[in-house]
Amino acid sequence: MHVGVDVGGTKVLAVEIAGEGDGLEVVSSAQVPMPGRNASDAEVERAVADAALEVAAGRTLTGVGVSSAGLVDREGEWVRFCAHLPWRDAPVRSRLAELLGVPVVLDNDANCAAYAELAAGSLQDATFALMITIGTGIGGAIVLDGRVVRGANGMAGEFGHVQVVPDGLACECGLHGCWEQYCSGRALERVMRVALGSHLDGPQVAALARDGDRIAREAFATVGTWLGVGIAGLVSAYDPEVVVVGGGVSAVGDLLLDPARHGLARALQGAEHRTIPGIVPARFGPEAGAVGAALQAVAAG
Ligand SMILES: [Zn+2]
Repeated sequence: MHVGVDVGGTKVLAVEIAGEGDGLEVVSSAQVPMPGRNASDAEVERAVADAALEVAAGRTLTGVGVSSAGLVDREGEWVRFCAHLPWRDAPVRSRLAELLGVPVVLDNDANCAAYAELAAGSLQDATFALMITIGTGIGGAIVLDGRVVRGANGMAGEFGHVQVVPDGLACECGLHGCWEQYCSGRALERVMRVALGSHLDGPQVAALARDGDRIAREAFATVGTWLGVGIAGLVSAYDPEVVVVGGGVSAVGDLLLDPARHGLARALQGAEHRTIPGIVPARFGPEAGAVGAALQAVAAG
């Protein structure tokens, strides 16, 4: 069997998929905590293997796809850098293949998410589109004619570290004012901490917002508005027909996406004189990266 594993800043998610096209679905999944950005490489790789083996549940693995946040090289061998993970110039694909004893394919998480949405989701009919994933940070992918555009070194689409506030908040990547400091799970937690004086994690804030809690809804509106403002810059640069949003923070749907649509319309140059692209949810939501990784493992054989 093939398994897809998504490695994010707070958790490692493994999925088993079945079916294809509109019938493609996640049939089982497992989640283990990410050991943390100060953990060793080996601890993170062990967590990836543990999640994959938990989904396999005793069945024989034939291939594993790994979706990683951060800078993955064009050949899918190395994770060069990720603000939220310990890997630095790490040969992650070969290490995991050795640890698991099966072929492994490695790609950037937002590229994997775009791969899943192209195959069976919100990008199926797209010619030129952008994919944004919002989790611990922001990932991005550029889609042209049914394929992910990878850039000169495989690292295109890292929109989360575009500076939106000069000398703004310090980012885990070492820079300041990065978009993801204002629009991410971490940003959501910070907005809530300022409002309440206590810490809640992203899923707790989402549960409150769904229950109608005013402060939690305002926190999603703040983060959503920043999402729209950032997307406005990307629309100016790329002129996409649609922007698909996935990742854990997007699981609240329109509580995030409606403020983003308003933020986009307000911040976009010439908004009244152009077609404003839709901001639509990823069909596979927070699981898109893991599903795309599983599909790539299947395609690799
Ligand atoms: Zn940054």
